Amino acid sequence: MDKQQEFALRTVEERDVRFIRLWFTDVLGTLKSVAIAPAELEAAFEEGLGFDGSAIEGMTRVSEDDMIVSPDPSTFQILPWRDGPQGTARMFCDILTPDGEPSLGDPRHVLKGTLAKAKEKGFTFYVHPEIEFYLFEHQEDWSRAPTPIDEGGYFDHVPRSPGMDFRRAAVNMLEQMGISVEYSHHEGGPGQNEIDLRYADALTTADNIMTFRTVIKEIGLERGIHASFMPKPLTDQPGSGMHTHLSLFEGDANAFYEAGQEFNMSLIARQFAAGILYHASEISAVTDQYVNSYKRLWGGAEAPSYICWGHNNRSALLRVPQYKPGKGNSSRMEFRALDAVANPYLAYSVLLAAGLDGIEQQMQLGEPTSDDVWELTDAERKAMGIQPLPESLDEALKVMEKSDFVAGVLGEHAFEYFLRNKRREWEDYRRQVTTYELEKFLPRL
Ligand code: GLU
Ligand code: MG
Ligand code: MG
Repeated sequence: MDKQQEFALRTVEERDVRFIRLWFTDVLGTLKSVAIAPAELEAAFEEGLGFDGSAIEGMTRVSEDDMIVSPDPSTFQILPWRDGPQGTARMFCDILTPDGEPSLGDPRHVLKGTLAKAKEKGFTFYVHPEIEFYLFEHQEDWSRAPTPIDEGGYFDHVPRSPGMDFRRAAVNMLEQMGISVEYSHHEGGPGQNEIDLRYADALTTADNIMTFRTVIKEIGLERGIHASFMPKPLTDQPGSGMHTHLSLFEGDANAFYEAGQEFNMSLIARQFAAGILYHASEISAVTDQYVNSYKRLWGGAEAPSYICWGHNNRSALLRVPQYKPGKGNSSRMEFRALDAVANPYLAYSVLLAAGLDGIEQQMQLGEPTSDDVWELTDAERKAMGIQPLPESLDEALKVMEKSDFVAGVLGEHAFEYFLRNKRREWEDYRRQVTTYELEKFLPRL
């Protein structure tokens, strides 16, 4: 029994915790949860808890369906919405096979593997996400467009709005769970909000994102509000993304900063950025995994559509804020394509691996773009060597299917499962006759 396990056991007793939820995710990033009684906790630490892996998306082949969840005591937290006597706590878990080996379908394991590769090269990977979401009025009929709870816009102060109360409740709850929030504000669309988490190592942040999504949904349920991370819920309003700031550290020093270099960007930063741009299309199905994700990327409103980088260019896929002397340790790059419904473990794996590949292959970073890339003509973009991101899930899958790089990062098991699942989603989607077609064509054709 280690110290963290002892702490969890003691807290369960002292705080009269009645249920301990063991959390993990499937390959798509859906949160899974099984509750155990306090009396089972010690055994769960020692032997894990068995479950039927064949019933979880992407976990096992049917022939090896017994799997084990093994709780990670460092993630023990009381759930604030179930605090008080007879409360509930949770821990994230690793998934093991019956032989005690890590499951190849466990996204947390995939990320740990990529982080270990970075560690071998002496790097720690830190990220901080800007998570956007909409708040809509409760509705029963999901086939009609949702109604935002307010008419606010970017950074608007909407006095006594339910949105402001919502953000306040969310930030308080996150802080109670040990998740630090840096900023929160109204975003560009009506009813749209953003909460930015403080930077942390990528595994902690991926866990935090899973918790964040749950917290936001819980607060919505409490208030009769439908909180949604759907990437593009409204045709004529901005989508919701999860821009993520990435940085690499070597010990205590930010490896992206080097005074005296152009823009104070180190060679490592340039190669890392080049790797991300090089692999951007291949990893797109992972960073933007739903049919709807591509409506955000190609729907304007500051979501990136083209593969390029720039400094204060919000139309670029990768934005590299100026690296300032004296502030070397805050040097980072912002990847803007990611959305908040991606599997954060897999998304951070492919981003880190892409950057590391750039370093390993010593990739060259081209010139930054200062133009608004949406305003350029196709010919101008072509002349500047700027390629588009995939325009649909179908295109993204076609590129990913051929990618040895992504197969290597996810491992064949998760890679194949992911592709099969997403292919099904696309086939299902493309045979739908949409409201758009009915309204546009039925009267005339
Ligand atoms: N909502 C925009 C997106 O989908 C981002 C707006 C911003 O924060 O710059 O990426
Ligand atoms: Mg934003
Ligand atoms: Mg941003």
